[in-house]
Amino acid sequence: MAEGKDIALMEKIVSLCKRRGFIFQSSEIYGGINGFWDYGPYGTRLKRAVEQLWWREMIELRDNVEGLDSTIICHPRVWQASGHLDQFSDAMCDCRDCKARHRVDQMEDTGVCPNCGSSNLTEPREFNLMMKTFVGPVFDEDHAAYLRAETCQPIFVDFHNVRVATRQKLPFGIAQIGKAFRNEINPRNFTFRSREFTQMEMEFFCDGAEGMKWFEYWKEERLKYYREKLGFTADFMRVYEHEKLAHYAKAAIDVEVKFPFGWGELEGVHHRGDWDMSRHQEFSGQDLHYMDHDSGRKIMPHVIETSVGLDRTILALLANAYDEDVAETNKQGQNTDVRVVLHLPPLVAPIQVALLPLSKKLNENAKQLYHDLNRYFRAEFDVTGSIGKRYRRQDEIGTPFCVTFDFDSLNDNAVTVRDRDTMQQERVGITQLRAMLDEKINISDASRKECR
Ligand code: ATP
Repeated sequence: MAEGKDIALMEKIVSLCKRRGFIFQSSEIYGGINGFWDYGPYGTRLKRAVEQLWWREMIELRDNVEGLDSTIICHPRVWQASGHLDQFSDAMCDCRDCKARHRVDQMEDTGVCPNCGSSNLTEPREFNLMMKTFVGPVFDEDHAAYLRAETCQPIFVDFHNVRVATRQKLPFGIAQIGKAFRNEINPRNFTFRSREFTQMEMEFFCDGAEGMKWFEYWKEERLKYYREKLGFTADFMRVYEHEKLAHYAKAAIDVEVKFPFGWGELEGVHHRGDWDMSRHQEFSGQDLHYMDHDSGRKIMPHVIETSVGLDRTILALLANAYDEDVAETNKQGQNTDVRVVLHLPPLVAPIQVALLPLSKKLNENAKQLYHDLNRYFRAEFDVTGSIGKRYRRQDEIGTPFCVTFDFDSLNDNAVTVRDRDTMQQERVGITQLRAMLDEKINISDASRKECR
């Protein structure tokens, strides 16, 4: 068993995701389609919260990074320039005995099947990962086009459009969030290796002389984001330094996290040199240099890339958050009730506060408070079942705070706030509630927008 591998945890996460509406198999009633996943109501809230957090941290709170929203299909020459059409392939080999298919670069011993141990393997074969389609009425090679395999290529292509429109000078970055498609031969590990997924990428353009400085800067910024915003600790996250670099790259690290199936890549921070811009200059025939008017020099911008998968971030958050604790034991000491709880960071939790009236008779007054809270936080109103059951339901989807509205609330204008992690309850005046939740959820004015 690989280090840190926890199959049971993975099964529990997959089951919770389906049961509570985080993530479903795509086209499930037709038997599903391998490598494609739909996000349900709580999943989309979580996904959007992470997207908005990333967007706020990477673009809105910075003066030197601009946003972009490019098309999924672009000119096929883009993918020739990027090398994807020629080289974007994985060498795969099949086991003739158990029929499992493996990526050769991920096999510890290339002569042996990792699944059954057989050495009866086929020769490695190359599979191109680009997804192909046709644009226009004729389905022939002249009309072939490709779904983007990464969101960064259109950023390079649009570099000068963005620069001119925004009057940015080097160094500055361009970022976008969007779908990417890869015809992965062996989609697996839930959403970790999907065929359609969302990337959040930022390309930072700078003078080559400053490349390493910016590489170090972005590496630290990204690690700080994971530590401070997503709560990833040193036992959950590590940095993998690439020893073998792509021929054009100057430095590269991966941020890896402990997924239930073992350590896996979450984000890459890469110093790509001037490879991307030079290639697009060569293939487009356009001069893509940057004119530095201060020094009078023509510069081919170098690129530092931070590239993270949104789906892998969601999976990492779920894996890090999932917990079970024993809520009750009987006289024989047996566990009679297990509490499933997601310790998600309040900033990205799908529901940040749940409003629970203790009796149906209180619904009307409680609903008014719920509407007030829902303007500032991701809130939910839940009236069904005993209060204990409602707490459990909220624990399971990671709601950090439950607010109980009871008969006393009508007189003392106060409610009981229950903390998901400590299970402590506190009586709070309704007029203080918003400020208290703001502080606990860690919503400062600067990050106000990111929580909605
Ligand atoms: P891997 O080695 O795991 O295939 P990669 O090095 O090819 O990943 P990049 O091309 O650097 O990945 O893509 C940047 C990010 O996009 C990855 O760090 C990952 O978070 C995400 N990503 C890449 N491929 C997939 C996929 N098939 N499913 C989900 N996310 C992906």
